[in-house]
Amino acid sequence: EQEDIASPKRTNDLLKKHSLVLKKSLGQNFLVDPNILHKIVSSADLDVNKGVLEIGPGVGALTQQLAKKAGKVVAIEIDQRLLPLLTETLAGYAHASVIHGDILKVDLQALFQEQFKDFAQVSVVANLPYYITTPIIMKLLEEKLPLEYIVVMIQKEVASRMSAKPGGKEYGSLSIAVQYYCEPEVVTIVPKTVFIPQPNVDSAVIRLKVRQKPAVEVEDEVFFFEVVQASFVQRRKTIYNNLAVRYFTKETKGQLEAILLEAGIDPVRRGETLSMEEYARLSSCLSKALG
Ligand code: SAM
Repeated sequence: EQEDIASPKRTNDLLKKHSLVLKKSLGQNFLVDPNILHKIVSSADLDVNKGVLEIGPGVGALTQQLAKKAGKVVAIEIDQRLLPLLTETLAGYAHASVIHGDILKVDLQALFQEQFKDFAQVSVVANLPYYITTPIIMKLLEEKLPLEYIVVMIQKEVASRMSAKPGGKEYGSLSIAVQYYCEPEVVTIVPKTVFIPQPNVDSAVIRLKVRQKPAVEVEDEVFFFEVVQASFVQRRKTIYNNLAVRYFTKETKGQLEAILLEAGIDPVRRGETLSMEEYARLSSCLSKALG
């Protein structure tokens, strides 16, 4: 078993040895605190029968801890320069491998087929590159991969939006998209000081327990999410006004009040007060009326 990578000294030594200057543009803020790593790994509830997909292994600090618990770890790293270094740091872990690629371009269905067909349960565990947090999470969810958990370090403010309940200013289309597919839980808030180099924002570890089936039943998912988006375009306006702009003309908007009432929604409410169930009802009534 190898020495733990997650310390400022070991990380800096590795970067120096491989003459690597970190790239801000790739969100390269490396975690150097063993306690935070432990919290991430333990909340993923791993054992040797489970697989893990990691996004952005960096120098392998998290990969190493995942490999100690899981039956298999596959990590996707975009920065080619890190591959020789990772070969060195992960040498003692035969069931951990690194694939060079861009997570947003990788064919994940094929990757799951190839890498995880022997595993009943697979989770994504990662300290994400922050410049693409939301696209990564939406890709994982929309592809409906057979995931147990997504445990990720992300910006604190994004974690609050993902886990927000109706009624507040953090609640929006991201909250609904994430909660449609998952049950979110903020595991811990993380200060900037545990990274090399320090990011500009505070972070949080969030655990998304992926639902077996979506939280609400909708006939047309694309239209459901479109209605949600439209309802938040102007947050300070009523649901009536936002939907009128999106779906009606001066001549046709007379129907909208009746549609909202049929869905059990007071037209003067704002989008941020509607629950996911209410959005499901609303999109179904609206779809029927628009034909
Ligand atoms: N896992 C390491 C840790 O915890 O210290 C590094 C985390 S660092 C925040 C994000 C990592 O994601 C970097 O290694 C970066 O090169 C990588 N990365 C950035 N964009 C990526 C992409 N599109 N696909 C795959 N990896 C990416």
